[in-house]
Amino acid sequence: MINLDQLRISFGDTEVVKGVSFNVDNGESFGIVGESGSGKSTILRALAGLNQHWSGTMDIGGEPQLPKRPKRFYRRVQMVFQDPYGSLHPRQTIDRILAEPLEVHGFLNIEKRIADALNEVALPQSVRFRFPHQLSGGQRQRVAIARALISEPQILLLDEPTSALDVSVQAEILNLLTDIREQKKLTYVLVTHNLAVVTHLCTRIGVMIGGQMVELVSANDLRAGNVTHPHTAELRKLS
Ligand code: ATP
Ligand code: MG
Repeated sequence: MINLDQLRISFGDTEVVKGVSFNVDNGESFGIVGESGSGKSTILRALAGLNQHWSGTMDIGGEPQLPKRPKRFYRRVQMVFQDPYGSLHPRQTIDRILAEPLEVHGFLNIEKRIADALNEVALPQSVRFRFPHQLSGGQRQRVAIARALISEPQILLLDEPTSALDVSVQAEILNLLTDIREQKKLTYVLVTHNLAVVTHLCTRIGVMIGGQMVELVSANDLRAGNVTHPHTAELRKLS
């Protein structure tokens, strides 16, 4: 589903992603962990088509990607951010926020699709006429997930989707993401610094340090401590 080969990304003269390669199978949930500034979000943004300044080979759903993507790409690949305001316009009602991607991609039955999307993320229909700031953090993240799912994507890119939430809400959102993935057979790429989250949701995990992916490990091996790179062992100790 996703094949990355020698992805490189620079900002000015500074290379922050230094030749990263990994594959994600159809329906797999792949995690990326690593220290702050190691390039995790930068990789995800490039996959999402939000950063066009990359080099290397990127193949998504069997199609080689160019830096600039066609509109239909954004139907298939959606992103959820740590801060839901990343995808929720603060001055739009939830109704508008959910209608917009449907209109962009020419979906019919918009009313019914919005109602279904709210049901899917267990939000009451009454939130439709509120603004994002009139929701709790957990509800806002549910809207962001609904917005990402409403155009029926195949791939969800999740950048720290639970880190801004308190612990009990984190668990709710994590369970919601697990259920959605199983029901819809989606492919996930999840970025987090939280090893409990990544081993809960992902089967295979890449460990980043300084712009390089230094280890690829299964969730079971990560849990059991069967890791080879000292940085991975260090991350386990810290979490
Ligand atoms: P965190 O865990 O803190 O979110 P991260 O692994 O997601 O960290 P990135 O956000 O990918 O890290 O950033 C990697 C490096 O690239 C950092 O040094 C960051 O300052 C730099 N960087 C990211 N975006 C830009 C940008 N638009 N312009 C310049 N530098 C950037
Ligand atoms: Mg980040």
